[in-house]
Amino acid sequence: MSVLTLTKISSGYHAPQPAIDKVSLSVESGSIVALMGPNGAGKTTTLAAVSGVLRLWSGKIELDGRRIDRGSPAEIVQAGLAQVPEGRRILPGLTVQENLAMGAYTIRSRRLVAELQDKMVTLFPVLKQKLKSPGGLLSGGEQEMLAIARALMSNPKILLLDEPSMGLAPLVVQRIFEYLVALKKDGLGILLVEQNATMALRIASYAYILERGKVVASGVPDTLSRDEGIRRAYLGA
Ligand code: ATP
Repeated sequence: MSVLTLTKISSGYHAPQPAIDKVSLSVESGSIVALMGPNGAGKTTTLAAVSGVLRLWSGKIELDGRRIDRGSPAEIVQAGLAQVPEGRRILPGLTVQENLAMGAYTIRSRRLVAELQDKMVTLFPVLKQKLKSPGGLLSGGEQEMLAIARALMSNPKILLLDEPSMGLAPLVVQRIFEYLVALKKDGLGILLVEQNATMALRIASYAYILERGKVVASGVPDTLSRDEGIRRAYLGA
């Protein structure tokens, strides 16, 4: 059952030239879908359209079968979608605990917020020891974990991640990806934007390749990585 469905969405910054042009994709619960492609292909733009930061020019976006493309970003979070932005954007001057609390801004029940925080520090034990430390003192990998935990504090059904590997050492990226696999197994739907296509294909259930705003290929990782043209163009092989 698909939790997030994009049907022929177009959007952009300077009409009439769309930055994304009739992009269709879907993400099922308990799966990781990778969105790959070169710089400027429209990956970040796609995420911005889904999270309601950028209005659609045409097409529709459904979460659990209900349209979300006319909602405000806060309404979309409330509907069950959370995003980990590019560059993490945690608040360095706030403590880890305060950063986590910010992710729960749409949740009224204090008890639920406390429960979610407990869940997050169980999932990411390193955050537990640092709840009172400023976010800015965490390492890059820890900041990425905090950014993921903060997004999960809204109790989403679907998580969007923009380049979580950026600026992190390969071993750290591997750990982050292991967390994503654990979250997937727990039933979360994940839409992962990654330039590191080789790593992304290792954990993805399905992948789409964007180029100049259009989906130019899609398939299961095995099929994509066996395609000679795709290997040469996107996988550095
Ligand atoms: P990257 O990995 O470099 O972020 P991307 O695939 O995420 O690439 P986008 O950032 O979505 O690509 O960019 C798609 C197109 O939209 C590009 O042509 C880009 O120049 C343009 N674009 C992106 N952001 C803006 C903006 N804020 N204002 C105007 N044009 C933009």
